[in-house]
Amino acid sequence: MTNPHALQFKSINYTGLAQGPRLIITGAVHGNETCGTKAILKVMQEIDDGKLLVRAGSVTFVPVTNPLAYQLQRRSGDRNLNRNLFPKPDPQDFEDRIANWLCPLLAQHDVLLDLHSFNAQSQPFVMVGPRNNDGALQPFRHAEKERALARRLGVSRFVDGWLATYGQGVQRRMQGSDAAQLETVLRYGFGTTETMRASGGYALTLECGQHADPAAPGVAYQAIINTLTFLGLIDGPQPEPIPLAEMEYLSMVAVHDKLAPGDQFSRTWSSFDALAKGDVIGTRADGTPVTAEFDGKILFPDVKAAPNNEWYYMTRPGTDFERITE
Ligand SMILES: [Zn+2]
Repeated sequence: MTNPHALQFKSINYTGLAQGPRLIITGAVHGNETCGTKAILKVMQEIDDGKLLVRAGSVTFVPVTNPLAYQLQRRSGDRNLNRNLFPKPDPQDFEDRIANWLCPLLAQHDVLLDLHSFNAQSQPFVMVGPRNNDGALQPFRHAEKERALARRLGVSRFVDGWLATYGQGVQRRMQGSDAAQLETVLRYGFGTTETMRASGGYALTLECGQHADPAAPGVAYQAIINTLTFLGLIDGPQPEPIPLAEMEYLSMVAVHDKLAPGDQFSRTWSSFDALAKGDVIGTRADGTPVTAEFDGKILFPDVKAAPNNEWYYMTRPGTDFERITE
């Protein structure tokens, strides 16, 4: 048995002599996603060996963000760290305690690179934030910098629209609730990147590959090196942005909830499976077919979703990745 009280939180900072951005790189926010941990430790070793030098700005590495989940080799300790990530005066579970350490740490930085992996076999992708906006849900003003960095991580697949789409689902589920209640539930959508953007910075989630894919740590490593170089923290050839023509860019536009325990997918779906309008995705418990409402790709299908929770998301091809305002 793991005793949470025997665990501690660890971050390592390297600061250069010259001025520059304050970067933080996190691994194992989900404990079974270890590609980021491996890549971070490799880069730290290269710095410690003198092969790399942090000349400007600073970088903080968090090899294991959720030590309980990491030790248990599970996604979560007591709950998903990447939701409802807020400091709490009266922490109730282990992830609340992480939040009380991690949120102030994030707030000391300008840029977050959060390294994850996923369950199904598919290619790496990066999740970017909203375009610049003054909206209530997620006001933002660094889309230009965030998207410029995203294009230099070394991956070609990009997804945006997460919090807005999640928020629509919440609003639908909570119809008739008062504004304060709605606010509480919307806050539930806050993970590492949302927290970073809310504290004035910008942030990317890089999904480096399947959990056990031996290539995933290499994807994470290259993304770290490219980020350090692009932001001017270390010397090296500037990474070229991936050409727009080579990018696959998807926008999440709709979330569909599981309504009853008997709702079932028609097959085993994987993220990024293509659907044509009318394709059958599953069947409701009462026999009603669930079909694709437009040509697009499915994202994050969750066989184990509980009733009234997100079952799958639909994406459309995104347009104008470089346009930075909504
Ligand atoms: Zn993850």
